Amino acid sequence: MTSRRVSRLLVALLTAASATFGATVASPSAASADASIAATVCYNTSQAGSFAGIANQAATIWNNATVNLTLSNCGSNLRIYQITGGGSYAVRTSLGNGRVYIDTQQAAQYSPLRIMTHEIGHILGLPDNYNGNCALLMSGGSAGTGCTNPYPSTAEANRVSNLFAGTRIGADTGSQVFNDSWPVATVKVG
Ligand SMILES: [Zn+2]
Repeated sequence: MTSRRVSRLLVALLTAASATFGATVASPSAASADASIAATVCYNTSQAGSFAGIANQAATIWNNATVNLTLSNCGSNLRIYQITGGGSYAVRTSLGNGRVYIDTQQAAQYSPLRIMTHEIGHILGLPDNYNGNCALLMSGGSAGTGCTNPYPSTAEANRVSNLFAGTRIGADTGSQVFNDSWPVATVKVG
């Protein structure tokens, strides 16, 4: 929805503001090089409870790892929820749109940031890849509770960049629920 011209203007304004006031207006990211074509996935943490800060960290990780898209806390393409029991999962309704649910009980076993970046990865178009490799983000819980790596691999990040290249947010990926990403030892609740 942001035209190339408006993007350039915003970049110019932000740069000017930063230079004038010495303030940190916006952290530079890999996407900034392609700001004129970057799509913005607006996420919302109003229901994220204690995971709101982790959601922001996860967004920064994705922004630094990818081009062609920017995650920003500006709306409701992606709503993030804190839940208790039942397991963390993601519901993708289309590319860049959906809901992520982070289970407090699982986040006590696994790295909350790894769970968050993984589940957001589903919204950005990635499937699960349960091969136990901690170097991969989409290996999820298969890499065990000791794996705290919250970063997508280069291949995973490039796949997301490619999905968003020239593609509007909302591209039809088929509605999909990823609900078995983080196996827990306890019986599922609800
Ligand atoms: Zn998953």
